[in-house]
Amino acid sequence: MRANCWMGRNKVSVETVPDPKILNARDAIVRITSTAICGSDLHLYDGYIPTMRKGDVLGHEFMGEVVEVGQSVTDLQVGDRVVVPFPISCGACYNCERGLFSVCENSNPNAAIAEKLMGHSPAGLYGYSHMLGGFAGGQAEYARVPFADVGPLKIPDGLPDEQVLFLSDIFPTGYMGADMAVSPGDVVAVWGAGPVGLFAMSSAFLLGAERVIAIDRFDYRLRKAAGTGAETINYEEVDVADALNEMTAGRGPDSCIEAVGLEAHAGNPLIEAYDRTKQALRQETERPQAVREAILACRTGGTVSIMGAYGGFADKFPLGQMMNKGLTIRTGQCHVQRYMRPLFERILAGEIDPSFVISHRLPLEEAPRGYEIFKNKKEDCTKVVLKP
Ligand code: NAD
Ligand code: ZN
Ligand code: ZN
Repeated sequence: MRANCWMGRNKVSVETVPDPKILNARDAIVRITSTAICGSDLHLYDGYIPTMRKGDVLGHEFMGEVVEVGQSVTDLQVGDRVVVPFPISCGACYNCERGLFSVCENSNPNAAIAEKLMGHSPAGLYGYSHMLGGFAGGQAEYARVPFADVGPLKIPDGLPDEQVLFLSDIFPTGYMGADMAVSPGDVVAVWGAGPVGLFAMSSAFLLGAERVIAIDRFDYRLRKAAGTGAETINYEEVDVADALNEMTAGRGPDSCIEAVGLEAHAGNPLIEAYDRTKQALRQETERPQAVREAILACRTGGTVSIMGAYGGFADKFPLGQMMNKGLTIRTGQCHVQRYMRPLFERILAGEIDPSFVISHRLPLEEAPRGYEIFKNKKEDCTKVVLKP
């Protein structure tokens, strides 16, 4: 089959690789009809996530048609159309039983590597390094889906792929970011107007936020944010903390959602140089400027929800500010399986059409171009969907 492979820093390439096979009785094989490039893939592309190997198949946002099932998969049949959630989860361990699917205790065969770094291992993920399982991803013609009786959501015919594809990751991720922080009537600030930030903004409104304020530096992304109903701040034009205080009568937003991740760009050139140098020297894994800003901007007693991805250790982290302001911090890889069905129902009810984030539709063969424009924010790119 054809698949988009990680070939080293800033290099992906569509290669011919072996077709996936059923390895366990609970596996299914899915023929992929739509897949997408995520901001998380950019962290791999840029070389910030360890334990990638040349030739690894990328991608964790995908959907398609079931073409083969293992003997123990009873609730899926060949021909079913499914969206696949990005965390691989057994559905039966201590964490899965509590809805904490992204920290499934049974799905990472390389847990020992993750334990060295984190103490305990999170779930295995598709196309996201050997430390997180070494599973082949879904930017491909086919994928093996483990625990196929737990994760995939069946989709009736008639709904276009583009309306449901993002149930695999970014819609639930943005929603969880809001769900962990937003109460009705809140003023919500969202750092990052990429796909995750945009879904966090829409979700904050779905959850009853009174106002949402979007922060980014790309005007074309801020215009998309405004389309969700958000007010906007361009952090290259104004000081974010000052602007947020001004917009909230000095109090600060009630809830702050960070949807940027470990490659944040800092408006301040000194901070930018500091983090870039430390990151390049491997003295910190993150450039955590958006988290720092969120902690400083949040009102006392408010909640900061961190949805951006991080890999290890951050420097100059405002721990005392967080503590003295009495903030609640919530975070995690998204527990996608918990949110898929309720959000699918919101799509069916017409409350949201997730396809609004898409800017580019490309054949799988053009994945390298997709990565390049998404990373460099060219051609007003907000989200690339790839068609195998
Ligand atoms: P993206 O790269 O398209 O968007 C990030 C946005 O942040 C960009 O528009 C960028 O201009 C903006 N930004 C950079 N520095 C900023 C700053 N200092 N202040 C405000 N905005 C700033 O990526 P995305 O697909 O939207 O993903 C965002 C993050 O979410 C990534 O780190 C990704 O890995 C992570 N993610 C996490 C989960 C999860 O389960 N927790 C799931 C999916 C994605
Ligand atoms: Zn993702
Ligand atoms: Zn589990």
